[in-house]
Amino acid sequence: MFARYDKYLNSVDKIAVGISACLLGQKVRYDGGHKHDRFITDTLGRFFSYVPVCPEVECGLPVPREAMHLTGDAGDRRLVTVQTGIDYTARMQGWSREKLNELERSGLSGFIFKSKSPSSGLRGVKVYRGPGAPALSGTGLFAAAFIKKFPLTPVEDEVRLHDPGVRENFIERVFVYHKWQELVRNGCTAADLIEFHTRHKYLIMAHSPTHLAALGKMVANIGDKGAETVEIYCKVLMEALRLTATAARNTNVLHHIMGYFKKQLDQLEKEELLEIIDQYRRGLIPLIVPVTLLNHYILKYDQPYLMKQYYLNPHPVELMLRNHV
Ligand code: SF4
Repeated sequence: MFARYDKYLNSVDKIAVGISACLLGQKVRYDGGHKHDRFITDTLGRFFSYVPVCPEVECGLPVPREAMHLTGDAGDRRLVTVQTGIDYTARMQGWSREKLNELERSGLSGFIFKSKSPSSGLRGVKVYRGPGAPALSGTGLFAAAFIKKFPLTPVEDEVRLHDPGVRENFIERVFVYHKWQELVRNGCTAADLIEFHTRHKYLIMAHSPTHLAALGKMVANIGDKGAETVEIYCKVLMEALRLTATAARNTNVLHHIMGYFKKQLDQLEKEELLEIIDQYRRGLIPLIVPVTLLNHYILKYDQPYLMKQYYLNPHPVELMLRNHV
């Protein structure tokens, strides 16, 4: 219904997202198998164009191959084979440098990593430091290099994406970051930045009113510091969106939006809307319910400012992300 407010929902262009190749079903794992994730290919794949990466195969290792694990300290992680102890750290690091330069040209808006892998795992990868149980504290070598080179790019792993809150947060960030990349690619003027900020106001508020205030100040004082502001703006924006949009913060945003209809809604409609927002706050119904009702009033009472708010339409409705948060 609201696709007309957001070209991304109508666009045939999919968003470029990097992914660990085994999650797409490619048989590149050490044992010759794969870890195909149907949600990633069948559901997200309708909106994302995947750029597959298998660090171990692309750095020249065969399939099948000996399993590897991480060893060493935080400042000196080593990637070594489990049985024979061959150290592939230098090979992986050298290949990663080249690959990341190549990926920079792909303009990825996100990356989905394979969990637990000593090459691709994002967090909690086993690290062996002698006899005894391994610490669950590592990041795979390639994943660590990716995060270092692209600190603002949204990243997640396939296991965490099964959590509805994590999933909604990640996909929202991918869509926002993609819009940001397009803005910068087309040459972001001060007017463009103000428009971008205005349209994301309530989305940012749902994550962090403090960050919203800082970003608002930045945009208001842009003056002749255009390029500098654009860079810092994105950093603070992505930092804000990484914070959880809690039920309390969403409720605050919903009340703000409701305030636009003070004069139009009759008493019964107001009471019904307040009740629905409160049911959401108490966890009885998902976020999609009050948002759908507000969208109905936005159309009915013709609120052009709210129609432009990405908060009310942050990602394709087909993904049903707000039906579960
Ligand atoms: S986890 Fe990473 S390195 Fe291992 S098979 Fe999958 S893509 Fe390749």
